[in-house]
Amino acid sequence: MTPQEIESAVEAGMPRAVEDLTRLAAIPSVAFPGHPDEPVLAAAALTEELLRGAGLRNVRQIPVEGSFPAVYGEAPAPAGAPTVLLYAHYDVQPAGDLAQWRTPPFEPTLIDGALYGRGTADDKSGVIAHVAALRAFNGEFPVGVKVIIEGQEEYAGERLEDFVEANPELVRADAIVVADCGNPRVGDPALTTTLRGMAAFTVEVRTLREALHSGGFGGAAPDALAALMRMLSTLHDDRGDVRVPGLAQGTFDGSDESEDDFRISAGVLDGVSLVGSGSLTDRLWASYAITVTGLDVPTVSGAVNAVQPVARARVTIRIPPAGDAKTALDDVTGFLQKVAPWGAQVTFDDFVTGSGFTAGTGGRARAAIDGAMERAFGRTPRDVGQGGSIPLVAKLSGLFPEAEILLYGAEDDDASIHAPNERVVLDELRRVITAEALFLANYGA
Ligand SMILES: [Zn+2]
Repeated sequence: MTPQEIESAVEAGMPRAVEDLTRLAAIPSVAFPGHPDEPVLAAAALTEELLRGAGLRNVRQIPVEGSFPAVYGEAPAPAGAPTVLLYAHYDVQPAGDLAQWRTPPFEPTLIDGALYGRGTADDKSGVIAHVAALRAFNGEFPVGVKVIIEGQEEYAGERLEDFVEANPELVRADAIVVADCGNPRVGDPALTTTLRGMAAFTVEVRTLREALHSGGFGGAAPDALAALMRMLSTLHDDRGDVRVPGLAQGTFDGSDESEDDFRISAGVLDGVSLVGSGSLTDRLWASYAITVTGLDVPTVSGAVNAVQPVARARVTIRIPPAGDAKTALDDVTGFLQKVAPWGAQVTFDDFVTGSGFTAGTGGRARAAIDGAMERAFGRTPRDVGQGGSIPLVAKLSGLFPEAEILLYGAEDDDASIHAPNERVVLDELRRVITAEALFLANYGA
């Protein structure tokens, strides 16, 4: 097919793509504990139907131990052509605070060219991007195709990693396309070429056998909560830079982002400054970040006049793409141990680590997507990083070091993923679908 034919086919398929996205996003496939299984399974069934309708063979749901099924389909490679693995996920974040939604989260609503609803962007836009790009070829694919759509990415998603480790042949490919990212701004094409890794742990501080009256004992009895606060406050300096020895700041090799735009998308309040030093992209994509994400301490409403015997915190570390998560975990826990005051007893548990990712450069798939995006968006993509982590990407790049991994999608920075009023811009979705279809043609040529 010529590029023009591909573009026309995508254009002609857009109404159906939007209709399918609307159907899929109407299903509350929240794969979190405490949410019903039926909608998740219904989304798996619809995804299976969509893959079958895209002309793939051997379409089936694949059981993933301890998780919801992944949906898989494939088409053999024409002689001499490479194989592409297409990834997305059909589960979504919970809706969160319903009062903050302007439209019902699971009633996809079209407003000014954007479809609003939970999962319209993250990542049902990715599912539909793959399906619609494949449909453009009418079953005659220019490359070998494998599609895997995960069923539980948003909640503790380590299970698909174990699955692909145990079943590498199923997903082996020359290029891997992860449609679960997006451009910084709509119409401004980008490839995500780095991801940070992450590590997390729980720290517990003990100082007393039991809680004591703060009148009778406060002033001399060592307070575990006070000890924990002192320890946590040493993790950053006054400017907000991480000050744990060994965790040096990194630099991102690419264009910087505007602090003003960042302030708006982050909703930083008037008069409140950003934290850390260096360029914004250095801080967000290439440096360590430490966040205290939870505290086990008495609540304000349940407060009594007592000195606390124990306090706990959950701490998350974001790791630069090339950094080592295990080393960072050791550095931070070692530092907290060292700064603990008054001989307080400090223990650490519930460890999590995940590697970051740095895309290779100069490959055939990258050249193919560059050309495809140039045609679909009018410009070649620039490299951007992502501060978050996609553990599966690190796993796949470890399993298939020769494979090129491309990350993109229709989740622009204002798509409000994981937040109220999530949306996808339909023109952006069309450009992503067009780029993906053109990529498959370029890569197979
Ligand atoms: Zn996602």
